Amino acid sequence: MNELTLKAYAKINLGLDVVRRLENGYHEVKMVMQTVGIHDTLTFEKTKEGIVITTDSGELPTNENNLIYRAAKLLMEAKQVQGGVKIHLAKEIPIAAGMAGGSTDAAATFKGINELYRLDCSKQELMELGVKVGADVPYCIMGGTALAEGIGEILTPLTAPPDCRVLVAKPDINVSTQYVYEHLDAAGVAKHPDIDGMVDALRRSDLQGIMERMENVLETVTVDAHPIITTIKERMLKLGAGRSLMSGSGPTVFGIFTDEEKALNAYEIMKRENLAKQVFLTTFVQ
Ligand code: ATP
Repeated sequence: MNELTLKAYAKINLGLDVVRRLENGYHEVKMVMQTVGIHDTLTFEKTKEGIVITTDSGELPTNENNLIYRAAKLLMEAKQVQGGVKIHLAKEIPIAAGMAGGSTDAAATFKGINELYRLDCSKQELMELGVKVGADVPYCIMGGTALAEGIGEILTPLTAPPDCRVLVAKPDINVSTQYVYEHLDAAGVAKHPDIDGMVDALRRSDLQGIMERMENVLETVTVDAHPIITTIKERMLKLGAGRSLMSGSGPTVFGIFTDEEKALNAYEIMKRENLAKQVFLTTFVQ
């Protein structure tokens, strides 16, 4: 095989709690991760040597600062691959948005090179290498519905939520994950999301129970700096979402719709209005 194309899916957080700040500056988290249908597309091509990245995104680096490069280098060195790779990234996932766009590209790179060069690495092996590129990379390799603990790398697969429409809106602001975590007073969180309750609700396929527990402690930091996030959340509720929430460290907001028609209508309206720069209507992916 000389060429291969893979989809790299984005995630949302149905729930996100920060348990505590660790001494090394990282945070211990407890999150419910869910893959959604928004995806980048990566094409891999065998070459004689080196790692070359191209992309249609004008905003991303193509050098060693791209997570794709770091994933490729790590795996090819670990497995002593004789040869090179050319990777093209068609970017669709909003950047620096709380949707793990970079991490999922890295995850697809591990899978792509594993297949291209028939390295025979197990998923577990790729996940162990993946955490060296980023805490969310092992989850992105696994995909679906999962509980993520530790710094995000301790994963337990969960029952998938019932099918819904998911409206995703990214306002025209950039939020750095580092800024959000640095400004979170982890010890002073007044109310922690009920993640255990959400896991139970997932097990029962109780969508109402899932939606009631959709909370994200990072909203306190991001919403203070960017009130547009609250505006979008409220707009989605008004347009018929059962619940709306910021994903990850934001600023992307998503709304859960059980009614197809309301979802389509909300999508059209959000696209026309100027609250968000990028708007998608998608579903959960397992
Ligand atoms: P997370 O949900 O994991 O916090 P995010 O969606 O907030 O991720 P990303 O889109 O992964 O953020 O990008 C964060 C930064 O990483 C960007 O500023 C970007 O320059 C850098 N980056 C490196 N490689 C990539 C990539 N392949 N795709 C997107 N961003 C990348």
